[in-house]
Amino acid sequence: MTTVATTTKEVFGVYRPGSTHMVGDGFPVRNLFPSNDLDRAVDPFLMLDYAGPRYFEPTDHPRGVGEHPHRGFETVTILYEGVVAHRDSAGNAGVIGPGDVQWMTAASGVVHEELHEKKFAKKGGTLQAIQLWVNLPRASKMSAPGYQTILNADIPAIDLGGGGKLRVIAGSFQGRKGPARTFTPIQLYDLQLKAEAPLSLTFPDGHNMSLFVLQGSISVNGSSNAGEAELIVCKRHGSQVTIEAQVDSRLLVMSGEPIEEPIARYGPFVMNTQAELVQAVQDYQAGKMGHLS
Ligand code: MN
Repeated sequence: MTTVATTTKEVFGVYRPGSTHMVGDGFPVRNLFPSNDLDRAVDPFLMLDYAGPRYFEPTDHPRGVGEHPHRGFETVTILYEGVVAHRDSAGNAGVIGPGDVQWMTAASGVVHEELHEKKFAKKGGTLQAIQLWVNLPRASKMSAPGYQTILNADIPAIDLGGGGKLRVIAGSFQGRKGPARTFTPIQLYDLQLKAEAPLSLTFPDGHNMSLFVLQGSISVNGSSNAGEAELIVCKRHGSQVTIEAQVDSRLLVMSGEPIEEPIARYGPFVMNTQAELVQAVQDYQAGKMGHLS
């Protein structure tokens, strides 16, 4: 006889931003990881930068971050306010606004720029975004670069009743599949949770799961609390998490199967070994990741 038990995914810890800095001149970010030493606990995610919310005065010279390389992972930009334009050396370009997501697979290497979109910059306005770095398994680190513009309209939004809403960017929820194509199993949800309307979510036992609070205040499994710009990280073991908001809240829910391979980092490159990092720098300097035209 078999019994099916739903075990609680317990909280591992609650974290505040570990550093605050500017990325270029357009993205004032609070970093949740890697500045908090969470590597194994958030695998396959490598970095979470929370940009803004910040008002930018009108300008004819769009702010942002100019030409720079990446290799070995994916950059995922989720926009809440403002408009951001991207273009890269693989020939991909895109503009994303509120509710849109840009999923850029650097893999073997691209050079790109990330700027406030021209008209948005000219008018001035508030920018609020998250950039998440998603690791690639060794076998995919040197595959061809890719690019997905995921528009608000393409992201299934599930009504949770009473005004709550869960948008499936990647993975699935209640049979609805998110549009993002991923290399490893990932669930990525934009969650708007109403006060005092608890939500239970289920994840595969053994997957990492964390919750970032953009606005509001939540408790997880009836105890651990987190407020604005804080991250709740759960343990791998267990599957069920109950989230309750004390006030109307907005969260990013991130879950994935750990890749569990060695991580070697150097700035915009994330590989498995030091030798591969040296190679990445040489390849970039030799122009093998291309240039912006
Ligand atoms: Mn970049």
